Amino acid sequence: MENKYVTILPDTDKHLREKCVDVRLPLSKKDKEVMEGLIQYVVDSRDKDLAEQYGLQAASGLAAPQIGVNRNMIVVVMDEEDEEGNVEQVVTALVNPKIVSYSEQYSYLSSGEGCLSVPETHEGYVPRHARITVEAYDYLAKKKVKIRAKGYYAIVLQHEIDHLSGILYYDHINKNNPYAEISGAIVID
Ligand SMILES: [Zn+2]
Repeated sequence: MENKYVTILPDTDKHLREKCVDVRLPLSKKDKEVMEGLIQYVVDSRDKDLAEQYGLQAASGLAAPQIGVNRNMIVVVMDEEDEEGNVEQVVTALVNPKIVSYSEQYSYLSSGEGCLSVPETHEGYVPRHARITVEAYDYLAKKKVKIRAKGYYAIVLQHEIDHLSGILYYDHINKNNPYAEISGAIVID
């Protein structure tokens, strides 16, 4: 069925293995459309009814190469709970994100990672830096930002930023022993 959503490419597509180039600021109309397409897919994929109606796969993030655009743009959406227990979706839409510093300590998801571009399952731990600092141009705030991230947020950011270098999550899995202990790592359930 035709719909307004972007099409996610599989990891067999060459765009998933190519390096991305920086985006010129201010963003062109075309770059804005790419960013809006990424945001709309990720936000709506988290809405049960829309996801079902349009066959969207639930996502935490998406990177431009996944829709065939090798330009440095990513989107991450997190659920954040306020003091009253209301869940709010926080959208991070970054242009030209760069990891400028990171902790020596690692963290990983106990259930492993997944990716909308990777239809088959690759089991194993994916080591990520436990804490990172990212510099980028924030598309929604319309300014340069420095983001300090940890926990699940830091993992998703690293997963998406990896896409910009043509790296997929399973590249990080220990081939000989996918569940090998990662010394000193923080386990995230
Ligand atoms: Zn991915």
